[in-house]
Amino acid sequence: MGKVGFGTAVGIAVVTCTVAAVVVGWRLRSRMKWKRVVGVLRELEEACGTSVSRLRQVVDAMAVEMHAGLASEGGSKLKMLLTFVDKLPNGNEKGICYAIHLGGTNFRVLRVHLGGRRSGILRRDVERMPIPQHLMTSTSEDLFEFIASSLKQFVVGEEEKDSELSSVSRSELGFTFSFPVKQVSVSSGILIKWTKGFSIADMIGKDVSECLQQAMAKKGLNIHVAALVNDTVGTLAVGHYNDEDTVAAVIIGTGTNACYFERADAIIKCQGLLTTSGGMVVNMEWGNFWSSHLPRTQYDIDLDAESPNPNDQGFEKMISGMYLGDIVRRVLLRMSRESDIFGPSSSRLSTPFILRTPLMASMHQDDTPDLREVARVCNDVLGIPDVSLKARKLIVNICDIITRRAARLAAAGIVGILKKIGRDGSAGVAGSRTKAASSGGKLKRTVVAMEGGLYTNYTLFREYLEEAVAEILGEELAPFVTLKVVEDGSGLGAALLAASLSFISTDT
Ligand code: ADP
Ligand code: MG
Repeated sequence: MGKVGFGTAVGIAVVTCTVAAVVVGWRLRSRMKWKRVVGVLRELEEACGTSVSRLRQVVDAMAVEMHAGLASEGGSKLKMLLTFVDKLPNGNEKGICYAIHLGGTNFRVLRVHLGGRRSGILRRDVERMPIPQHLMTSTSEDLFEFIASSLKQFVVGEEEKDSELSSVSRSELGFTFSFPVKQVSVSSGILIKWTKGFSIADMIGKDVSECLQQAMAKKGLNIHVAALVNDTVGTLAVGHYNDEDTVAAVIIGTGTNACYFERADAIIKCQGLLTTSGGMVVNMEWGNFWSSHLPRTQYDIDLDAESPNPNDQGFEKMISGMYLGDIVRRVLLRMSRESDIFGPSSSRLSTPFILRTPLMASMHQDDTPDLREVARVCNDVLGIPDVSLKARKLIVNICDIITRRAARLAAAGIVGILKKIGRDGSAGVAGSRTKAASSGGKLKRTVVAMEGGLYTNYTLFREYLEEAVAEILGEELAPFVTLKVVEDGSGLGAALLAASLSFISTDT
């Protein structure tokens, strides 16, 4: 071999070695980065741990906080608001009632014709309409003028369909108002603050029912507001109407809340409270529950700090549909910063709330072998193309950890309520004298009414929740507790309550 030939051979060998070294180095770095990502996943898994023993601590904390919130005003992060609903519909109600619901995704008006025990709901008409954006920040007069005229249109339409209605001199109405209200009676209450994009300053501190009553009078409607309720109370009312063993209601949708039927003597902050039934529905406002036993991660801390309401609604921020997708986004963002598994960084991944919970659910529940839906959401929503199958599996894993934690914590909250009222097989919480509620230690069938888009539409969430309730309660007790989905609790419930408060049933 000549000198030139030898030099060329050496040159080729050097280049080959360099290329090989680069490839090996890249592979090594890539493996190390993947290892780091797996480390982040393991860390998340551990921080979100919800062993049964931890869940039982949450159960106890919930029951204790409930007790504290009932003992004194401001005694707990749980407000435990009185609703003055001391009697729940039981199916005997007869007649026609109206209801309106303000505070959900749409404004709704409905009419229900109740046939009494043997017939149930004979007819139900519902109309949904969005609240015009400008009215959400206008004046209370404008808002209620819109509500009353929508109601009038609906009533007139119904009367045209059913001529018998025109002969009714005065109708009863239930008003579901899903904003924080300090209830004064079962049919009136004062607005504490607006949420969900509403902001009408002159309304704060005003009686919500009175505003509606006046607006209806101006439109010539002879309708009486018989009940002013929160959406959870409506859900409990429907649950109880369908099944009298229903003792509590839980909503898990965009937000989360719960209410239950409490003995009057356990409501210590309102001494001498007299109710015909000896009990009253308490609106827990459980989204604000907090306990050091909740498995909190840095992602939760950051989400809270960057939210418009830091240190508020801590339980809700770990559980409800508004937030789950964003917790997942935060984990993905950290992984993308610490590795290149999602390729060059995507600015969309830094956009808060870009990953909505239904999309997260569709990735979590993707049953295609190559996780096509995960790839689609990554590409179309998060701006991350060409995600490897390994990385897609990782994403599914993250969704699973976050949803499982949420569902199991909600389950612990539910068992906490059952514990407070002595339906969990224990003696309940000291001071509430709940032993009697379990009728001398005998186990009673107990139903919890469930509502909300997260619970009803997210199958894996629902399955994890049900599984955890059974796990916490144990084999012996679990068969006595049923979670029952209630359709349209927030609208229908108010109508049922208006009926049960106004009509004397004829066929008991
Ligand atoms: P709201 O809470 O406004 O009264 P819903 O009870 O219908 O309304 O709940 C809507 C919420 O439920 C959505 O904001 C979303 O977070 C969640 N959700 C709805 N559909 C799904 C779904 N398919 N998978 C997961 N979450 C869902
Ligand atoms: Mg709702």
